[in-house]
Amino acid sequence: MSYIIGSKCVGVKDSACMSVCPVDCIYESLEQMFINPDECIDCGACVPECPVEAIWDSEDLAIQMGEIEYVKKNYENFGLSYE
Ligand code: SF4
Repeated sequence: MSYIIGSKCVGVKDSACMSVCPVDCIYESLEQMFINPDECIDCGACVPECPVEAIWDSEDLAIQMGEIEYVKKNYENFGLSYE
């Protein structure tokens, strides 16, 4: 399981999440921030830092909220695939 950054981050990239992540697993791309699913330790520290509430606490929740596209993007950004 991994935390997932969804659509609300696109064009915002506040980056407050990056400064609190204890394992530095949040990375910036052109459009948004992404969490490396292989590195995330599911601590939850990033969630309250996001001013636009873009971070979901699991793939399942992101998918329930209609954001499967962003689950896949988070994985693909690190050369991984989400099945
Ligand atoms: Fe980093 Fe914790 Fe957020 Fe995962 S849940 S991205 S480890 S701050």
